[in-house]
Amino acid sequence: MKVYKVAVLPGDGIGPDVMKEALKVLKTLSEIDSTFTYETTEFNWNTDHYVKHGLMMPENGLEQLEEFDSILFGAVGDSRVPEHIPIWELIMPIRKNFQQYINFRPIKLLKGLETRLKQERDIDFVIIRENAEGEYSTAGGKMYQGESRELAVQNTIMTREGISRVAAYAFQYAKEHQLRKVTNATKSNAIIHTMKLWDKVVEEIANDFEAISYEKYYVDAIAALFVESPENFQLVLASNLFGDILSDLGSAIAGGLGVAPSANINPNGEFPSMFEPVHGSAPDIAGKGVANPIAQIWSLALMLQNFGRSDLHDKVLFSIEDVLEEKKTLTPDMGGKATTGQVGDAIVNKLKKRM
Ligand code: ATP
Repeated sequence: MKVYKVAVLPGDGIGPDVMKEALKVLKTLSEIDSTFTYETTEFNWNTDHYVKHGLMMPENGLEQLEEFDSILFGAVGDSRVPEHIPIWELIMPIRKNFQQYINFRPIKLLKGLETRLKQERDIDFVIIRENAEGEYSTAGGKMYQGESRELAVQNTIMTREGISRVAAYAFQYAKEHQLRKVTNATKSNAIIHTMKLWDKVVEEIANDFEAISYEKYYVDAIAALFVESPENFQLVLASNLFGDILSDLGSAIAGGLGVAPSANINPNGEFPSMFEPVHGSAPDIAGKGVANPIAQIWSLALMLQNFGRSDLHDKVLFSIEDVLEEKKTLTPDMGGKATTGQVGDAIVNKLKKRM
């Protein structure tokens, strides 16, 4: 029987608090389903590591991670280190070197949650964001620092290969999940080189999937539509920057950061994929026992789905919904008084009843 090897990186701030609860859920799954076995190895690559060693991870960090089936990530960053350090020395190297070129974010209003929009809405779509190139590149430079003519250039890198693989993934996902429509988030009216190539390649892929309708909207219009009529979306395909912004807007309309999961996927399985909540390390509430663990637990569920265990994914998600619908055990961000641990325990109890 396959033993899934999971690298666990709790990180900083509330990362370790919420990770503890996700690991409780993982343990429960293996206890009640004899067909699911796993082993975890924890890596304390965080701000403490940086302060001690001057590095977010050891020089052979990526080699160490490469042998795992997946990476479960918490959150990184605290005030002792400039905020770009954990991003560019830990998260980005993992995403880019492991070719996790898909960022997958479900925007789903779980049962028991209320939208922050004025009217109740049926919100259930996914955002597939290009995760390896685009606007988030280090290509560029700066000149004349400190002078009045100071300037900076940051280049967006879009390649035919990079666009076509994310677009193909999106349309294939739509086909496999019986979605009827893919929406391309673009801005090719103003960004006339890279975004025009993006549109051209996306449209070529769209033509290969005749059964799925394709629409193109400017990203600013999509931002408004997320608020006005989110029920009209099924799958939004976006570049790295646009997807990043739209995903946070998406999580805001569907319950907030405490319940927003994400997956960084290497689709061909050549390298491990990474699963992490959308939220950061939230230093304001770290160690207080009040962080909502649902985003981390849902991210764990996405990992199970990626292992091909959609059955376990669904059970975890239904158990989260059971707790939300009951409205008895909620953290303060959801209007409750429960601790992080109590919410984790409540989800574990619901899971036991469902197995
Ligand atoms: P980053 O810059 O990495 O995103 P940040 O601390 O600026 O980190 P987040 O950690 O994403 O931003 O969170 C912003 C605020 O949202 C936090 O300060 C916290 O109050 C709240 N928040 C985030 N995640 C959670 C959570 N899991 N449970 C409860 N509140 C949360």
